[in-house]
Amino acid sequence: MPNPLHDALFAPHETRDRPFLLGPNGSETLSFRQFTEMAGRFAAALRTEGLKPGDRLAMQAGKSPETLALYAACIRAGIVFLPLNTGYTATEVAYFLTDAEARLMIADPGRLPALAKIAGTTRLRTMDDLAAAARDLPMAPVEPRTATDLAALLYTSGTTGRSKGAMLSHDNLLSNARTLTEHWRFTSDDVLIHALPVFHTHGLFVATNICLLAGSAMIFLPKFDLDQVIGALPRATTMMGVPTFYTRLLSDDRLTREACAAMRLFVSGSAPLLAETHAAFEARTGHAILERYGMTETNMNTSNTYDGARKPGTVGPPLPGVALRITDPETGADLPAGETGMIEVRGPNVFQGYWRMPEKTAEELRPDGFFLTGDLGFVGPDGYVRIVGRAKDLIISGGLNIYPKEVEEVLDAAPGVLESTVIGVPHPDFGEGVLAVIVAQPGEDVDEGAVMTHAGAHLATFKQPKALIVMDELPRNTMGKVQKTALRERFAEAFGGA
Ligand code: AMP
Repeated sequence: MPNPLHDALFAPHETRDRPFLLGPNGSETLSFRQFTEMAGRFAAALRTEGLKPGDRLAMQAGKSPETLALYAACIRAGIVFLPLNTGYTATEVAYFLTDAEARLMIADPGRLPALAKIAGTTRLRTMDDLAAAARDLPMAPVEPRTATDLAALLYTSGTTGRSKGAMLSHDNLLSNARTLTEHWRFTSDDVLIHALPVFHTHGLFVATNICLLAGSAMIFLPKFDLDQVIGALPRATTMMGVPTFYTRLLSDDRLTREACAAMRLFVSGSAPLLAETHAAFEARTGHAILERYGMTETNMNTSNTYDGARKPGTVGPPLPGVALRITDPETGADLPAGETGMIEVRGPNVFQGYWRMPEKTAEELRPDGFFLTGDLGFVGPDGYVRIVGRAKDLIISGGLNIYPKEVEEVLDAAPGVLESTVIGVPHPDFGEGVLAVIVAQPGEDVDEGAVMTHAGAHLATFKQPKALIVMDELPRNTMGKVQKTALRERFAEAFGGA
């Protein structure tokens, strides 16, 4: 009986004695065979806990080989895997457990006292409890699943309103892993530096599923640690990262062409990679970072090409099998080529809808299968997609639309500015006013007058910031995304409010 993800990602490795997970110094932590055995026994322990196919299992645990084995165990046992950001507080976790009706939660031991207060009907166990229960059990049988059965429930970061559970099927994950493996040429000779969290689509599905499908090894690091990543470069062939990984690498003189001699591919995503970072990385290492674009609900949608041009500031053409169109955010009508609007995507990668939110699903997933990503962008004459920002970050000042990215690009090029972010906050005359938050180049003081002069020379008056705020660094989440909602709240009164 089939189980699509198990059959493609795990079954082929049951008798494979090659290394799968490696430590920072390249020593083997687990072979493919040991990993699949661990997962098989974890699946047996989950069955003895009473979990049945279709049940939800929540996990909030520090990154380790066991966390990945738990994902594999859920796939094998037909259980829906629900990984949670390790930064969520017990109160935040309570919402996910209740909403998803999670049967069991695997948590770090230190969190148990706080979680016990909110867990309700969800049983709590630690990874050690599970490992102890699994130790003497034979591997569980593989539960049959169909292509549309749910494999995972991933909650969106939910910066506005309630966080929504994106229902991802076996085929959503598998089809995307197949496409990306081929597109980025992964083989069993590859060794990937894995420094991403495993509660998010990037580290869990993009990175891990590709390596499992291709039979590649991973240098599995608990988190991004500059020394460890630089040390791992000569032993690896590929890395996937968020843009901050690349800016941090660039800040270190040990990042050289020689250090990257064994590498064949660096991939970036989850947040926009500055064209400047792309250029600096290529100048230093000889590698053009390959930028791709995706999201929790859709897996990956577009990617720069492997052999063709990797264009800075673009996320490349749609991946094979993905249809992409640009529509008017107000009316939903198709826009002429080259115009900026809502990015919509359709393909086997697009999720099944939001968990128990039929209205939200109907708002964002059209009857013809296109999903409204919430991202604004346009497709250039070269077929490459350019993202200009989230629709909710669009600024409307005096009735005129301002795309933050356009202003940010001008400010980033201003004298003494390292980077910037631009938000709209309530303004008594204009509805919203443009507020810029800037970070100075290391060791420099920004001359605000010079920045404004630069903005004045490059931007129409209505797009120019009405105020500048200098910060030491931009607030970012673990995936490197600038927290614009938090900034809007913090500076809501900058122009005296609405
Ligand atoms: P998440 O669901 O947490 O993966 O966030 C998805 C969002 O991240 C997308 O809707 C985009 O707004 C943003 N994103 C992902 N990749 C890129 C990229 N390469 N460039 C710009 N934004 C990106």
